[in-house]
Amino acid sequence: MSIRKNIQNIREAITETAIACNRDPATIKLLAVSKRHSIESIQEAIAAEQFLFGENYIQEAQGKRERISNANFHFIGHLQSNKAKVAAEIFSMVETVDRIKLANALNKHLEKLEKKLDILVQVNIGYDQNKSGVAPEQTQALLEKIQSLPQLRAKGLMTIPPFSTNLEETRVHFKNLRKLSQKCATKNLFFDNNNVELSMGMSHDYTVAIEEGSTFIRVGTAIFGTRPV
Ligand SMILES: *Cc1c(COP(=O)(O)O)cnc(C)c1O
Repeated sequence: MSIRKNIQNIREAITETAIACNRDPATIKLLAVSKRHSIESIQEAIAAEQFLFGENYIQEAQGKRERISNANFHFIGHLQSNKAKVAAEIFSMVETVDRIKLANALNKHLEKLEKKLDILVQVNIGYDQNKSGVAPEQTQALLEKIQSLPQLRAKGLMTIPPFSTNLEETRVHFKNLRKLSQKCATKNLFFDNNNVELSMGMSHDYTVAIEEGSTFIRVGTAIFGTRPV
């Protein structure tokens, strides 16, 4: 199936799922995860009016950014503090801020660039040893520290739940992320506490994520096919 057709199918699924759970489909943004896929694949997606992409590797993203100017990129991979400078330059959002050291590094480079950056705090909602992310009970403290960094706009939370083929198990994690975001919003810890973003849901579980309140779904395989190794 073509990239264009895949994107159309996902848009339809977003609309159907949103309507079925009484949400406005426009509040759900599709992030096309293009890691390890070619520039040509990204251009095919752009031709289908997909203008938002997710990348996991700084160097790869830098090369793509240089050749593609009519789209925005979110960083969704693990970010080392020593790569914060490039990240501050090329991404419209960094979704994986999970420690104060990284937030400080981003803030420092953004000051020099005289730029503000939207970020999400990545939460390890399922206490998965193989995943990055701040522990749920440390999320508030991290958001409080980020509030004192003037270049960062904490827009919401992001998570990658432990992999499961049982979508009802995954749903519990999505629900927990949403509850945590609501708790943080009542304490005014976000940039806009009436519009908190939740980045959750991938190719196999994005409809469940939408049912649980996701505002960014991150879809790779269902758009571009299996990733080249
Ligand atoms: C690769 C990746 C995705 C996309 O996963 P698919 O299963 O291919 O849709 C989403 N989020 C993150 C953080 C990723 O690293």
